[in-house]
Amino acid sequence: MVQVRELMKMIRLSDTKKNRRKIIRWMQKRGILRRTVKCVKCNRRMHLVTCHVKDGLWWVCKHHRSSPQSVRNGSIFTKSHIPLIKWLEFMHRFAQGLQLKQLAMITDGIAASSRTLTRMAKVLRKVCIAAVKRLRKRGMRIGGRHRFVVIDQSKFAHKRKYHRGRCGNTWRRERQWVFGMLEVEGKSRRPILRLVRDRTRKTLIGKIRHHIRPRTSILTDEWRAYKGQLAKYGYDQYSVCHKKNFVDHENGAHTQHIERAWQNYKLEVWRHRGNRTLESLKLHLKMIEWHHWLGVRHYNGVLGRLFHDVKKQVK
Ligand SMILES: [Zn+2]
Repeated sequence: MVQVRELMKMIRLSDTKKNRRKIIRWMQKRGILRRTVKCVKCNRRMHLVTCHVKDGLWWVCKHHRSSPQSVRNGSIFTKSHIPLIKWLEFMHRFAQGLQLKQLAMITDGIAASSRTLTRMAKVLRKVCIAAVKRLRKRGMRIGGRHRFVVIDQSKFAHKRKYHRGRCGNTWRRERQWVFGMLEVEGKSRRPILRLVRDRTRKTLIGKIRHHIRPRTSILTDEWRAYKGQLAKYGYDQYSVCHKKNFVDHENGAHTQHIERAWQNYKLEVWRHRGNRTLESLKLHLKMIEWHHWLGVRHYNGVLGRLFHDVKKQVK
């Protein structure tokens, strides 16, 4: 369990040998660094001793002093040379907002270059993606009786490698449909965002039935694939042309309100999209799912969830 206040105390420590050790012990306690390590040669527990390399501590086997191990081994920080205190600061920023302001972070001395920052973000995103994959495996379902789900399709452009004979590879802009299902309940949002091959009835209804519980009130656009179809499967369907009928009696929230939520949401996707590839689009959709399903729902907030997921990666 980690709290922001506690983390901030660590981040504010000056970079001395003593503090580096303190930070390592703190990270071990939170489970994001290994707590125990066994010697590969004799399988006995290794000991944490001070050393002169960057982290200030390493694992040593009292029987084989010749092969010490880094405190980072088995964690997500293994391949990085960034001081652990900087990693903590970066994790804090990462949890604050998915959109990372690189310039500010360079000015604040978290890392010297945007390349390093990009690499660091990639490491943390990988952690989040792994968590989303576990979530998807468990099954993501939304809605139910008295619950509202807005569904919509958006087109996203991305670049795709395009083979053209001997001329080698060039990049071509491609369009990709994203099918979104968004549960809105008070201030809580639970989005499910999926790439779809086409927008046929079979594809879309398939996704709806897979992810949305029966008896849900579903607000749809006018797309003909599901127009008037959803009642068959036990849903209450409202389309935007019947706006006035669609009122959330529980909270008194009106369609416009819900629609705005969805719009903001799409904007969020667009903002992250940039001029990227299909892979990057998939990644951002997953990151948005991570944020709403796991991040903001954690009892210790987004940061708490991030620590939880980083901990899961410790081998
Ligand atoms: Zn040994």
